Amino acid sequence: MVPGETGLDYYRLEGRSIADMEWQRERFRTHIRAARQTGKPLIIHTRSSAEDTLRVMREESAGEAGGVMHCFTENWEVARQSLDEGFHISFSGIVTFKNAVELQETARKIPLERMLIETDSPYLAPVPYRGKTNQPAWVRHVGEFIANLRGMPVEELAERTSDNFFSLFKHIDRKSHA
Ligand SMILES: [Zn+2]
Repeated sequence: MVPGETGLDYYRLEGRSIADMEWQRERFRTHIRAARQTGKPLIIHTRSSAEDTLRVMREESAGEAGGVMHCFTENWEVARQSLDEGFHISFSGIVTFKNAVELQETARKIPLERMLIETDSPYLAPVPYRGKTNQPAWVRHVGEFIANLRGMPVEELAERTSDNFFSLFKHIDRKSHA
């Protein structure tokens, strides 16, 4: 997880158990409460922890703050439950990877009004730059790939996902990002 994100990550437990990760769950709860109090959207990271992530989100009414499931890599069921909680789903370069067939299917089905795209740079460079140091400009390749999947013009996908971003992150002034 990088600064600005919250959530759960059970990927590298290094000998500890999921029960030992109570500190992560507590911290996640604190962040959800802060987001609800300040009215700011949550950027949620979940890795090898989807069930607990969704459970904590529901228990803490994360939907009142809303936000985005960032760098989404889970299956349709997790996407569906996140949408039910009122969250947006954000796709990174992972969706362009050849073996990401299930994720591509999910990206095809997400309602456009709930979709975001991102790079997660410097990580996870999209095809055709896979393995290189990622950069924000390459979000275009994520957009082009998903537009192709959905059989729509990339300009329309770019516009819709930008609209989604600015309606979610209301405190960011769109005019200064024209
Ligand atoms: Zn993350």
